[in-house]
Amino acid sequence: MKFTTTCPHCQHRFQTEYLDSGVHDLHCPNCGRRFALFIRKHRFETLFDLGTRALMDGYAREAVVNFAAALERCLEFYLRSALLERAAQEHRDLDAVTRELGATWKLLVSQSERQLGAFAAVYLAREGRAPEFLTPQGVGADFRNRVIHRGYLPRESEVQDYAARLFALMNRLLEELGDAALQGTLMQEREYAAALEALPDDVVAVFEEHPGMFRTPRDQADAPNVLPPGQDIAPAITRPPSLSQPVNARPLNAQPSNTQPLNAQPINDAAAFQAALKERGTLVSKLFGGKTGG
Ligand SMILES: [Zn+2]
Repeated sequence: MKFTTTCPHCQHRFQTEYLDSGVHDLHCPNCGRRFALFIRKHRFETLFDLGTRALMDGYAREAVVNFAAALERCLEFYLRSALLERAAQEHRDLDAVTRELGATWKLLVSQSERQLGAFAAVYLAREGRAPEFLTPQGVGADFRNRVIHRGYLPRESEVQDYAARLFALMNRLLEELGDAALQGTLMQEREYAAALEALPDDVVAVFEEHPGMFRTPRDQADAPNVLPPGQDIAPAITRPPSLSQPVNARPLNAQPSNTQPLNAQPINDAAAFQAALKERGTLVSKLFGGKTGG
């Protein structure tokens, strides 16, 4: 999958391919100069946007694969963010915690059932209640398996329903995470800082934030967008937001004050997804430059 970017040296716009790491070591096809491009977006967001784009283009079956992967990565994001939030509240070394998290995730990474189990335990520990949405019906597992494993050709309306259900679920998890989502974002920033550190001093680094269907909290207002060679970005990235909060500031079962109680559904899933599509679908479409499927 390709997207359009701009050379920081000559402002030439060109297409390049998404890389899994989010870190792109590029040479401008116009001026030939090198720069490093960091995409500030989480994997679950990118996957859901790819699914949205595929659905908008009429590739219903392909969309399901992306939506399903987006949910799995969203559960991972919740798990990592929640554990890092806890570690920050306990004033532990977040780099060390991130390393241990990585080592633990390696034990789960090839088996999604293990990942679900870990997520359920972390969710219970943080929210003080069972993740009741984690049933096969709740996550549309039967539909997903029919499409992915049994070659079922879904109707567009079925994929719309599936996407709407997952969109609502993922938004709910982000809402429940609240500021803890910033921990997930900071984890990505720490990875990017390490990649930046490894670059030669004369390579300009560019950070891009791409529009998408989700609005994950991203407190990067004072992070520079284009860094002169050799500039240290440490002040912008070593600011764990939860450290400023007192330990146990978030009591169990606390509801964020600006959101609906979780059991109340002001608009149904389908309407919420359609509203987001209307508001941000065009941006997502533009981002990928008019070609679906990579
Ligand atoms: Zn250039």
